[in-house]
Amino acid sequence: MSTFLELGLKEPINKALTDLGYEKPTVIQEKAIPQIISSTDDLKAFAQTGTGKTAAFSLPILELLDPSQNNVQAIILSPTRELAVQIGNNIKDFCKYLKDVKVTTVYGGSSMEEQIRSLKRGSQIVVGTPGRTVDLINRRALKLGNVQWLVLDEADEMLNMGFKDELDKVLEATPETKQTLLFSATFPREVEAIARNYMTKPVEITSGEKNTGSENVSHEFYAVTERTRYPALKRIADLNPDIYAIIFCRTRRETQEVADNLIKDGYSADSLHGDLSQGQRDSVMGKFRKKTIQILVATDVAARGLDVNELSHVINHKLPDQIENYTHRSGRTGRAGNKGISIVLVNGKEKGKLRQIERIIKKKFVEGKVPTGKEIVQNQLINLIDKVKNIEVNETQINEFLPSIYEKLEGLDREELIKKFVSLEFNTMLKYYENSKDLNNLGRENSRSRATADNMTRFFINIGRKDNLNPGKLIGLINDQNIGDKIEIGAIDILDTFSFFEIDKEYEQKTLEAFSDNQPDFDGRSVNVEITKKERSGGGRRGGRKPFGKKDGGFGRRRSSEAGSSSSKRSDSGRKRSDRRSSDRPDRSERRASGGFGRKRRES
Ligand code: AMP
Repeated sequence: MSTFLELGLKEPINKALTDLGYEKPTVIQEKAIPQIISSTDDLKAFAQTGTGKTAAFSLPILELLDPSQNNVQAIILSPTRELAVQIGNNIKDFCKYLKDVKVTTVYGGSSMEEQIRSLKRGSQIVVGTPGRTVDLINRRALKLGNVQWLVLDEADEMLNMGFKDELDKVLEATPETKQTLLFSATFPREVEAIARNYMTKPVEITSGEKNTGSENVSHEFYAVTERTRYPALKRIADLNPDIYAIIFCRTRRETQEVADNLIKDGYSADSLHGDLSQGQRDSVMGKFRKKTIQILVATDVAARGLDVNELSHVINHKLPDQIENYTHRSGRTGRAGNKGISIVLVNGKEKGKLRQIERIIKKKFVEGKVPTGKEIVQNQLINLIDKVKNIEVNETQINEFLPSIYEKLEGLDREELIKKFVSLEFNTMLKYYENSKDLNNLGRENSRSRATADNMTRFFINIGRKDNLNPGKLIGLINDQNIGDKIEIGAIDILDTFSFFEIDKEYEQKTLEAFSDNQPDFDGRSVNVEITKKERSGGGRRGGRKPFGKKDGGFGRRRSSEAGSSSSKRSDSGRKRSDRRSSDRPDRSERRASGGFGRKRRES
């Protein structure tokens, strides 16, 4: 293996890398750095986050650029603000011993004037998100006429996020003679099209096999139903007291609900998604980086810019719509030489997707069994005892208290003492899992309710029996809205003054939009349709649970029993109808949290 100097980098860059603790180049660095230094050919690199790709493209640029010229020589595009800031900061670290090299990072949600001022002072390297970069080009504050290197980082993500037009504009603003460096973890059709249209005979390099996951990640799946999905998630967290994980969800609402439930149930968790303000997102990410919170529940896009190397687990609460995104998710763990576990919770219908993913990652999923209460308790106990064994005793500080402690414990023999200390920490956990069920078997019960919950969205409609509504009329009313030819209507509940119906999840948005656009009336009453919130989200205290076994953490949780915890109660399909009505009503806060019906917003 070569050194950074042998790859062709000068001493000031090498010195900065030594300061950062980079001892030797990673695979992608070893391939990309000499290639970019020695050739002006375009480059297509297959590399995921965590492979060292930032240094792979920025070090050769730093080696070659001309610090005496103040114009923009390299433009680096990245999908999110967080990633752009991270890249900008990395480059500043790399060039700390290079004189006169300046870097400006531009992104939305931050003062445009400040960024324009920085550009006016002259920067050889600009790192930006596509939207803000185009804004600055349009204002003529960013001039790309002298660009020699264009880097498209996480090109697949940029296209996923709908930045195709912006990419086209930036590409058009740069000279033909530039060298384009495209880095992507996956190469779906859209990325290949960019490569075809904008690159000339690119050289291909890869940090491993194309689209495959990291060697250090093992992939597990747990079979669940909608009833057991959340309890299974909690048990996985309970089995791993030192868990440091991202739980990925598909939508913002799902993200918020899972996070609210975990917080309410006493876990050290928080949410990260596009409905939070930039300030809130920064704060959550800061807490997660510092490990003040152990579990981050996030959407794919919001978690993009998070640079954390020591994740123990990635948990897919639901699989991503685009299967390729699984590689991105699982690539968040097993980084920088660490081992990681990527867990997928799947119901019967979702299982088919696992085979597709296996083909992409070229690895097999191993089936995990949802741990039983007994296994969790046993694991926690061993963990606690290990920690007791390994705890460092502060002899000088504790000495003065020992005589009175010995006096109080006089008369207790060794066995009794051990039992009492362990029980102090342990009784709550024992009680919590007392009479807990085996979720693996529960998962195979009641297939009808599973199919319904999995695929259908439940809607509230403000008309009922008193308005002469019956199931036939309701089906007629739904069909009149022209939602779709293949629309499937599920269970219907007609109550006195309002009703519920289920529609294929695929048509969720179209149903809302159709009723909102058509504004139908029924027997003279204007009709209003909203998604019901089957599980009312928490609002409990934030950041509650201290990690098991961590200082003043222990097992002293507030939960009384697993059966009594928030979600298992809510997901109990056997509830009485009167209970169900109140918790099924649409919750206004939910609508706010999901950005309003039919409103489309892009997370960036
Ligand atoms: P990246 O894929 O660029 O996001 O890098 C992932 C992580 O690996 C970052 O925390 C980098 O600081 C770190 N890193 C990159 N290259 C090296 C290297 N050659 N040696 C040690 N750490 C590195």
